[in-house]
Amino acid sequence: MSAVYDTGRGSIALSIVVPIFNEEEVLPVLVARLRPVLDGCREPYEVLAVDDGSTDRTPRLLEEIRSVWPQLRIVTLRRNSGHQAALTAGLRRALGAYVISMDADLQDPPEVIPDMLALARADGLDIVYAVRGDRSTDTGFKRRTAAAYYWLMRRLAGSFVPAQAGDFRLLSRPVVETLKTLPDQQQIYRLLIPWLGFPGGQVTYQREERAAGTTKYPLHKMVLLAWDSVTSFSSAPLRLATAIGAFSLVVCLGFLTLTLTVYAIGSPLPGWTSLITTVLFFGAVQLFCLGMLGEYVARIYAAVQGRPTYCVASDTAEEQQ
Ligand code: UDP
Ligand code: MG
Repeated sequence: MSAVYDTGRGSIALSIVVPIFNEEEVLPVLVARLRPVLDGCREPYEVLAVDDGSTDRTPRLLEEIRSVWPQLRIVTLRRNSGHQAALTAGLRRALGAYVISMDADLQDPPEVIPDMLALARADGLDIVYAVRGDRSTDTGFKRRTAAAYYWLMRRLAGSFVPAQAGDFRLLSRPVVETLKTLPDQQQIYRLLIPWLGFPGGQVTYQREERAAGTTKYPLHKMVLLAWDSVTSFSSAPLRLATAIGAFSLVVCLGFLTLTLTVYAIGSPLPGWTSLITTVLFFGAVQLFCLGMLGEYVARIYAAVQGRPTYCVASDTAEEQQ
């Protein structure tokens, strides 16, 4: 593949996609660290800042930065659509021969970018994962939930999922084009991209602390991501429902035998406690399984509706045309 992808508007070797949601504190620090690295690469690049419906000073700050940094391109989404949807918007619009996605909070250090690019070129790789070698700066809770997440994903989706590789990664143009052909549903890129099977490599980096501001991934969003990851890549929960059903049947048969025996002996128990326990237990199991089924029906429903996961309000690259 040629090193530079001809866009028809000049060639861009590298696109950096950064989803941004209410990051006013971190933006100046991000620019101060990212720009020297990219300028130092001495290749044509663009930075796609995807403003995911920020409600703070982020949009104004981005405009200000763009006035002194022409390579900055601002894609504004109409409303907050979530990290993965913002990533989709950026990936679909990026023009570079290589596209790197990274977080805005500098937990993904920009200094690793030249290494990723060099490795992709040297070994002819289509994907380079930046893998967190050390997460000691993350909270114990975040580390443990992340470890549980990757363990579960490798078990459910397959061992091709690299552990500790988040959304800091390099993709070649063929990978991006392949992603663009997939239906525009909520994609879980950290599972989908390894699954595509392109040749990939890794660079290791030290996970830093968030440079400023607070996390935009509260617990409920983490749980949602984990649940989306499971249901989009595995039907194991449905099988679990069947297994729970089968187990309940066995328990039920045991109870039936016991009741009949006691009845035959002629001393039936008063039995209210055991009865109510059994009724409640099976009620709960049925609701649980129904809920699980509902999750998949909801996914099918969303896919059939075919609504986009995000709406773009503006893209500074298009305004220039
Ligand atoms: N983000 C986003 N939309 C959201 C939530 C987060 O675009 O609804 C962005 C956020 O600005 C950051 C990245 O996604 O650039 C990762 O978020 P964060 O660093 O808060 O997550 P954490 O590192 O705490 O998991
Ligand atoms: Mg972060």
